[in-house]
Amino acid sequence: PSREEVTYFGAGPALLPTDVLENAAKALLDYDHTGLGIAEHSHRSQHATDIINNAKADLASYLDIPDDYDILFMQGGGSGEFSATAYNLVGAWVTRKKAEILEQLGVKSEEDANQEELVSALKKAVESELKLDYLVTGSWSLKAYQEAGRLLGPEHTNIATDSRPINDGKFGKIPEESTWKLSKNPAMVYYCDNETVDGVEFPKFPDVLAPKADGTGPIVVADMSSNILSRRIPVKNFSVIFFGAQKNLGSTGVTVVVIKKSLLPPACPQPSPSLMRKLGLPIPPVVFSYETIAKNNSLYNTLSIFDVYIAGQVLKKLLKTFPDKVDGQQAIADKKAALIYGALEAHPDIYKIVPDKSARSRMNICFRVTKDNDTDKAEAYFLKLGTSFGLTGLKGHRSVGGIRASNYNCIPLAGAEKLVRFLHDFAQP
Ligand code: PLP
Repeated sequence: PSREEVTYFGAGPALLPTDVLENAAKALLDYDHTGLGIAEHSHRSQHATDIINNAKADLASYLDIPDDYDILFMQGGGSGEFSATAYNLVGAWVTRKKAEILEQLGVKSEEDANQEELVSALKKAVESELKLDYLVTGSWSLKAYQEAGRLLGPEHTNIATDSRPINDGKFGKIPEESTWKLSKNPAMVYYCDNETVDGVEFPKFPDVLAPKADGTGPIVVADMSSNILSRRIPVKNFSVIFFGAQKNLGSTGVTVVVIKKSLLPPACPQPSPSLMRKLGLPIPPVVFSYETIAKNNSLYNTLSIFDVYIAGQVLKKLLKTFPDKVDGQQAIADKKAALIYGALEAHPDIYKIVPDKSARSRMNICFRVTKDNDTDKAEAYFLKLGTSFGLTGLKGHRSVGGIRASNYNCIPLAGAEKLVRFLHDFAQP
């Protein structure tokens, strides 16, 4: 089939706008009449810097990211950020703790302190207090939690909440906030805003994590790999937001980190590697150090400028399409999701939506198909018939099975409507 005939509901990478790809194809051969392709220009060139700065400015504009945040382009994907968030936020925790201890000791700087006294007080604090809190609501937050345990030791990680015990051992619900067991002064509270595999999305920013009137509050870190650019987010409530580009922003190859500048130097320099070693804590590989990447405007080492360029072109198109920026995209995303869930709910004998209604994802719509009490057969037929109508990529994640319609920004309203018609038709006896 041709590109126009296919509506692809795969979970990622997702389709990119055809006009962006057509222009990118030209830019691969000759970027801006330079005789060199975009992937051939040096990452040290002015072209590269301009592409990065424009993409940063457009992302900040589209999502209303305030000036006290920086935007980093990194490599290593969402999975790399599971490690990067743990490393960097633990470093920031040590820096804060160190300042507290120096104040208690009545000395101005680390150099003025009795080193043995300082290290011993910090060690004690690390042993008794250092915790990373995770809200485990699906496969990706679980993976992030496991990675932190692997890097730091499980004694430093805390599952503040877990969906499985309240949902027959499976993901699909977000436990009541009143039941969450947050640590006293965690290095971060981490959650995944949209669980791609399990179809679970936080309906809104959790109240218990909101900053207080004086601006203080927990350090909140969120993985928005699968729902970024699909709704307005209260950026100022977060210390770090990260996402791979490959679902709602651009092509596979860059990961975006939106980070509050108060976590970077000069406000919060990372502790020295030698101090971290004395404390028995890990330091990040330099390419995962937010401090290093920020200091170099994402060009510490060779970055795929082509991928940043694609993301930038998608953002330019979004800004042109939606004068009210992300609110415009949100209205469409919400509408598409409502249409698809509506069609599923219209045939309760045939379709079983997997997650609880309170936590249904607008981006990854997970359901089971049953006909004549034979789910395997019905789902295989559903996928085969869907594909014959150009509705592809609907197979659920291999770990959970079933059907998953990924309703990313690249799915036009007409694509969602086509799926809706198919859902109704398939349900007919
Ligand atoms: N986080 C979420 C929510 C994801 O959906 C994925 C991948 O699909 C990841 C993290 C991992 O991303 P990557 O494959 O870029 O490491």
